[in-house]
Amino acid sequence: MNLSQMTKEEISAFKSENEKLYSDFKGKGLCLNMARGNPCKEQLQLSVDMLRVFDNGDFMSECGADVRNYGVPDGIPEAKKLFSDMIGVNTDEIIIFGNSSLSAMFFAVQCAYNKGVLGSKPWSQCGRVKFLCPVPGYDRHFKVTLFFGIEMINIPMSPTGPDIYMIYELVKNDDSIKGIWCVPQYSNPDGICYSDDTVRRFAALKPAAEDFRIFWDNAYCIHHLTDEPKYVLNILDEAKKAGNEDIVYVFGSTSKITFPGAGVAVMGGSKKNIDELRQFLGISIISYDKMNQLRHVKFFGNFDNMLAHMKKHMAIIAPKFRLVIDKLDKEIAPLGIGSWTDPKGGYFISFNAPDGCAKRIVQLCSEAGVTLTGAGATFPYGKDPYDKNIRIAPTYPPIEDLEKAMELFTICVKIAAAEKLLAE
Ligand code: PLP
Repeated sequence: MNLSQMTKEEISAFKSENEKLYSDFKGKGLCLNMARGNPCKEQLQLSVDMLRVFDNGDFMSECGADVRNYGVPDGIPEAKKLFSDMIGVNTDEIIIFGNSSLSAMFFAVQCAYNKGVLGSKPWSQCGRVKFLCPVPGYDRHFKVTLFFGIEMINIPMSPTGPDIYMIYELVKNDDSIKGIWCVPQYSNPDGICYSDDTVRRFAALKPAAEDFRIFWDNAYCIHHLTDEPKYVLNILDEAKKAGNEDIVYVFGSTSKITFPGAGVAVMGGSKKNIDELRQFLGISIISYDKMNQLRHVKFFGNFDNMLAHMKKHMAIIAPKFRLVIDKLDKEIAPLGIGSWTDPKGGYFISFNAPDGCAKRIVQLCSEAGVTLTGAGATFPYGKDPYDKNIRIAPTYPPIEDLEKAMELFTICVKIAAAEKLLAE
């Protein structure tokens, strides 16, 4: 029965019942961390053979460089070939970075901030600078813009992507808006894939600021959870068709393909954009880890093998996503005290509690030993205006632990929702 249709007495009894279950849970001494989207041990194991690819003593890149030495700061050609296929750009439109796409994004913002973009005034000299932030979104994106003192404007997400009409309205006259964070494929945390129409409109965007850039973070470009994946349209191709190819920076990494923190990160974009950033890069680094680049190339061989590798990830994590959804469908749906996504890829399930309940749910879970991403983290400045969004990251815990964590989570949702109704 829908909780809001119960009498106060019924809600009180319901709450007491769940508080009893909650205190039983507390006694179990759980200690589980579901705060971040980390791959689990079995997923990490899938790539361990990569550590043997140099056993034959061949450290040479096809360009003649010994990958153990300095040089080739923007990446060896065979890595450019492999990863340009992954993010959908040409081999002269890509830079191979180090182990983190987030730091590549930071670098791109930093270059714009200190040096400007293709001859424009550095953002640091522009007075107020603003970024558009589809919400809920990725907390670390927001931390990058916060670090540079860039103001953030919330843009609501819809099932087809961020509200593109609102974006058009905002950017058309305001040249202090310099960029937008986008996770187009299996967005973090909603798991939304941008529609073709949204991608085409992004590609054709003509902001007042000529140094406006779309930060197209394609972190989950091949991270499918079904056998019939939906591919988001290639934005750089669409931007070229619209004569607007400088509008976008594309990012990706193998953090959730091979090893987070020991993968390979990449950035793509128009030749003009990439040539400029390559120049700046040459100031900051003599060489990234080319051994790791070649390790990845030797391990995968080609992009098709990478896709096959992702199916092995899917086999491990899809049942975990299923478990979470099934639990919510069974325990929460009939009570009408929340809604959630059923993503077809990516790393997260986005749960929306009744307004004003997210912080309380996260607190209750934490006090009983399950750490979730902090409530509010999915919004700029950590401020969820309705205190309702919680990001669930199901990949890391073993499935038995996940089951316990979800049991606790649903109990906490019930208690928080009951408390709210009783207080009204
Ligand atoms: N972008 C998104 C959308 C993410 O969810 C994550 C990690 O969770 C990252 C980037 C981090 O990527 P990397 O490890 O390449 O820095």
